[in-house]
Amino acid sequence: MIPMGTINWLFVCGLAFCMGGVVVLSFMPLSSDCICPLSRGRTKASSELNKVPVGVQESAPKSIHKLAVLVPFRDRFEELLQFVPHMTKFLQRQGIEHKIFLLNQIDRYRFNRASLINVGFRFTSEVYDYIAMHDVDLLPINDALIYKYPSDAGPHHIAAPELHPKYHYETFVGGILLVRCEHFEQVNGMSNKYWGWGLEDDEFYVRIRDAGLRVTRPENIKTGVNDTFTHIHNRYHRKRDTQKCYNQKEITRKRDRQTGLNTLKYKISKIQEMSIDGISITVLNILLECDLADTPWCDCSGNAAVASAVST
Ligand code: UDP
Ligand code: MN
Repeated sequence: MIPMGTINWLFVCGLAFCMGGVVVLSFMPLSSDCICPLSRGRTKASSELNKVPVGVQESAPKSIHKLAVLVPFRDRFEELLQFVPHMTKFLQRQGIEHKIFLLNQIDRYRFNRASLINVGFRFTSEVYDYIAMHDVDLLPINDALIYKYPSDAGPHHIAAPELHPKYHYETFVGGILLVRCEHFEQVNGMSNKYWGWGLEDDEFYVRIRDAGLRVTRPENIKTGVNDTFTHIHNRYHRKRDTQKCYNQKEITRKRDRQTGLNTLKYKISKIQEMSIDGISITVLNILLECDLADTPWCDCSGNAAVASAVST
């Protein structure tokens, strides 16, 4: 028999333990408020963000590898409204387990597609097996373009030069590129020096080649440059930012051996789930940091710092 005093003591301890639990729980941040990368550990938790993928069609064979569709983005809302339902149906038909991540650049520097992809990779790579670096305005319309996990050889270039509506040179790897996470890590991701339009994908090609990886491309495609993709890009309405300032031209012509995943500097100010036609995508609001001494061409106008400070 347990003496009465001991029972009281056990009761008090039990109560204290429960209260402690309540206090600890109430101070734990809600997982969806956490501005931190997805992790395998959190996959099983109830977090919305970790609720990996989007339904795969009943009939399609289910993929074992998970794809993070990384979409570098700024001010392309019309294109996004078309992209999300189109890509979701396209990938569902192939049974690709995937989720779309919108990498929304909200700082006042010039657009930096490569750094945004680096951020998207950092955010998703623990939970996903491969990434699609995917322009928001390039929609595949031939179901023979297969988005499956790339082979050991290296990245798989969906927007091949013989299929892309605009870019036809052999070393082109832009538009849509599938990369295994281990390969992206191996090449130190993409260069962070490319602010404004162009060349970041060509520099990435050299990284791939120097690492001994090989780019594969779709085979036996019966369509060509006019009917494989829809490129929702009006060059007057969506003007490319081709300005060059400071020594941008000289530096960005060269292979960058300094920057990449290891030097990436950014903040994610907000993570939100957004639903388009009932499809849930994850939006990351990203503030890239620019070292003005290193890449002054992130801000040709000299106004970026002022513009971020003043809100009227
Ligand atoms: N992009 C964006 N906002 C911009 C510039 C580019 O969202 O102001 C993204 C968008 O995903 C776009 C991609 O970067 O599809 C590539 O840019 P763009 O379409 O201008 O280049 P293209 O390959 O068509 O020459
Ligand atoms: Mn485009």
